Amino acid sequence: MVDLPEEMTTIWSCTNEECNGWMRDNFVFLVQPVCGQCNALMEKSEKMLPIIANTSPNQTKTTR
Ligand SMILES: [Zn+2]
Repeated sequence: MVDLPEEMTTIWSCTNEECNGWMRDNFVFLVQPVCGQCNALMEKSEKMLPIIANTSPNQTKTTR
């Protein structure tokens, strides 16, 4: 098992109570995004999420 580090991340969550759609703020480029699942408005929220590295998997192999 890999223990990914998590941090409080700003997200947008769907205001529709019957929908659990959400997306990371990092991937939202609109002032007011709408839910991709039900087209309802979304509101800013926070969620504990694994930290996403911006770089591709680095090859840090310690070979001696
Ligand atoms: Zn929704």
